[in-house]
Amino acid sequence: MEKQGNIKIASENMMPIIKKWLYSDKDIFLREIVANASDALTKLKKLTALGEAQADGDYRITVTTNEEENTLTVEDNGIGMSAEEVETYITQVAFSGAANFVEKYEKAGGDGIIGHFGLGFYSAYMVSERIEIFTKSYRDGEPAVHWESDGNSTYTLKDCDKETRGTKIVMHLAQEEKEFSKEGAIRRLLNKYCAFMPFPIYLNPKGEEDKAVNTTEPLYIKQPKDCTEEEYKTFYRETFSDFNEPLFWIHLNMEYPFRLKGILYFPKVRKQVELERGQVKLYCNQVYIADNIKEVIPEFLTLLNGVIDCPDIPLNVSRSFLQNDAQVKKIAKHISKKVADKLVELFKNDRARYESCWHDLATFVKFGCIKDDEFYNRVKDIIIYKNLSGEYVPVTSCFGEEVSEEDAKNGKEPQKAYYVSDENKQAQYIQMFRDAALDAIVCDTYIDPHFISYLEYKNPTRVRFLRIDAEVDAALKEEGGEDEELKKLFEEALKEKKIKVRCEKLKNTSVPAVVNVSEFMRRMAEMNTFYDLGGDGAEVTLVVNTANAAVQALKGANEAERNLAIEQIYLLARMNYKALSPEELGVFTTNTARLIEKYLQNA
Ligand code: ADP
Repeated sequence: MEKQGNIKIASENMMPIIKKWLYSDKDIFLREIVANASDALTKLKKLTALGEAQADGDYRITVTTNEEENTLTVEDNGIGMSAEEVETYITQVAFSGAANFVEKYEKAGGDGIIGHFGLGFYSAYMVSERIEIFTKSYRDGEPAVHWESDGNSTYTLKDCDKETRGTKIVMHLAQEEKEFSKEGAIRRLLNKYCAFMPFPIYLNPKGEEDKAVNTTEPLYIKQPKDCTEEEYKTFYRETFSDFNEPLFWIHLNMEYPFRLKGILYFPKVRKQVELERGQVKLYCNQVYIADNIKEVIPEFLTLLNGVIDCPDIPLNVSRSFLQNDAQVKKIAKHISKKVADKLVELFKNDRARYESCWHDLATFVKFGCIKDDEFYNRVKDIIIYKNLSGEYVPVTSCFGEEVSEEDAKNGKEPQKAYYVSDENKQAQYIQMFRDAALDAIVCDTYIDPHFISYLEYKNPTRVRFLRIDAEVDAALKEEGGEDEELKKLFEEALKEKKIKVRCEKLKNTSVPAVVNVSEFMRRMAEMNTFYDLGGDGAEVTLVVNTANAAVQALKGANEAERNLAIEQIYLLARMNYKALSPEELGVFTTNTARLIEKYLQNA
């Protein structure tokens, strides 16, 4: 038999589109060709199981590179194709052989057919000038055939003398694609796309000792109960080339209502300053699709490392379709639920371990809450913060009872919860809180300001967060009202400073005054600096502590001495809030020297 013909489906128009569309990603052609080989083996295996074919079980894929001839060859010993099948499946591009096959062989289990996504065989023309197919069907008596085409509009099909069952695809590479005839380059691509394919792949095999380049049974397809801790760690190391041990992992394994397998690893975070991107690799029946597909894997989970294999994702559709697909949404939700469940389980069953991992988990969990309300609802009780004694407490312990609308109208406010953002800078405030047996939580990671705003937004009637230097007098104030006389003295002495003054009796007696910043104003100012909108920072108030002896003594002093002392009290409070300017530091030093002198004269 010998035949020549025109490729029917307007492929002259199609090739430039394929080439252009995929140009940046053209190495996926190898995945498509190897996946076809793997499909052919899956089919043969099934037919053998059904008694319709005989195979000895030595299923294999061989990839050969030839730099001299500038070719790349992929060969399998799968079902092969008859001349008619080559015509139908290869020449008439529009037919999907896989689709026919699935229909026919669903009774044999139906899964395991890969390659129904992607561009298939023709993607190899992105890198080839000419492709030859040598193939022999598993059916007895079918002659072997040779097909050849430059991928534009004509092809030839004739008998050939291939003796063994299966298909050999010889890609004659374009001049500028010489790279793909090099063993090193192909090894890298096989590692990327074919690492978990279900049949062994040999690259340029030389003899007995050959090792397959892939793992045909990646750990994630096993039942969780059959996997050991060591296996999980090894799989992590090999798949992500990360030699740090993961903190822990979640093995996903479900059949219903959709099929989903995979392992998600929580890595140790190296830096706290920014979100480190992880890598969640998506597979479909052990064929690699892509990393971090946000339509399928909730964005916050891409901070983790993992592999997810989901044969039920419709991958031959556009991403915008994926975004709106109900099934895909369910999958994403399920993954996020599993992660939340695992964290809750760890919190409940091994609190010590949970706390020891929290440093590495916190950013992920908080980011997850902000991005995904359902995730927040599941984990809100296990979000923990250190308190002033260094113990972890759930953040929900800062929440009060809900304030009803009625009570809110009568002026009742949600519970105030104080937090520390910098233990060094806010040391004085912390000390005052400790003296008064009050507590605060430490919110010192970069995501915390956003996260506490989020918590307020989710719980508007139960909590309001205040930094420890905001409304400090509201926390520490004793009954008794303001001291108007002192207030006047301070206002008079500090009128240049444009600072508000309140004189109140605080629970602490050792500190003469503290600076107080309105939480709201400070957040606004921070936002302005963040967005570079300028502004002088937040308005501050000086809270003078009338319970302090030095403050009390002011009333009896003469004006000059009093004003110097007031300025000094002001500067002391200021420096406990924020570093002084060089001028202020100068004044502070002179004043201090003067006070020491006075003190010693009277001693
Ligand atoms: P798809 O795999 O998406 O159906 P392809 O263009 O990759 O599209 O392949 C078309 C068809 O050609 C396949 O469905 C299959 O029937 C056949 N085919 C391709 N490669 C092989 C192979 N190595 N062995 C047997 N049949 C193959």
